[in-house]
Amino acid sequence: MASVGIDIGSTATKGVLWKGGCFECYLTPTGWTPGESAAKALAQVRRRGRLPRGEELHVTATGYGRNVFQADRRVTEITCHAAGAHYLAPQASTVLDIGGQDSKVITLSPNGKVTDFLMNDKCAAGTGRFLQNMAVQLGCSLADFGDIPEETPFQLINSMCAVFAESEVIGLLAQGVAKESIRLGLLDSVAQRAANLVSRISDHGDICFTGGCAQNSLLGKLIEKKTGRHVIIPERAQYAGALGAALIGAGRA
Ligand code: ADP
Repeated sequence: MASVGIDIGSTATKGVLWKGGCFECYLTPTGWTPGESAAKALAQVRRRGRLPRGEELHVTATGYGRNVFQADRRVTEITCHAAGAHYLAPQASTVLDIGGQDSKVITLSPNGKVTDFLMNDKCAAGTGRFLQNMAVQLGCSLADFGDIPEETPFQLINSMCAVFAESEVIGLLAQGVAKESIRLGLLDSVAQRAANLVSRISDHGDICFTGGCAQNSLLGKLIEKKTGRHVIIPERAQYAGALGAALIGAGRA
């Protein structure tokens, strides 16, 4: 039987189909009704995965919205992210996930089991939502946010809070500071927060960087610089939680 993992995140709902040792990924925005988004993701998996009508699926739900969705099994996002990240980057002993509204650090045993974790879900600064809001202020897409020429002067962002940082950015724009410099400063502040979180957990091995924000490779480089540790950004990093759920459902993790 094919296994499907549905990760109902605060911003994006991810579906992963695990079948015959391969996986395929689907994504839909979470919106205001997480249960509906999850149902949409599952329908997308069925349709785009070209599964014959009536084919039975084993569905495992994870993520903050997992309790509002009827699934065969529900598993915490820490366990699922660990399983998915271990599959994508088996050499990593730490997982750093930066999603839409939280960030987390998980340490793994050599066989991919969770040994410790820390979560920041109290502060918006340092999350994807913060970068999303700033991208709007700066008239830039998230996909281009980290596209910054190497010689760009760095603009320090002093504010520790997402709300104040937004006002600070508006002030900097009014002073004529280049948008690239501001973007570099914002990414640096997100990287600093991530490095602080990583430093609170005792591990010194490679870091597997997951979550939607891992698509910003410059952010990964800044985190590498600040932690002094090798940062691996796997392809499909945003799908680690859903992949982990699918692997757990298939009895592969
Ligand atoms: P969640 O599980 O909390 O919904 P995700 O791990 O799916 O979060 O990540 C969603 C976040 O990913 C968005 O808030 C957005 O900021 C970020 N994101 C999406 N696309 C990109 C991109 N191309 N580059 C950097 N960040 C991105």
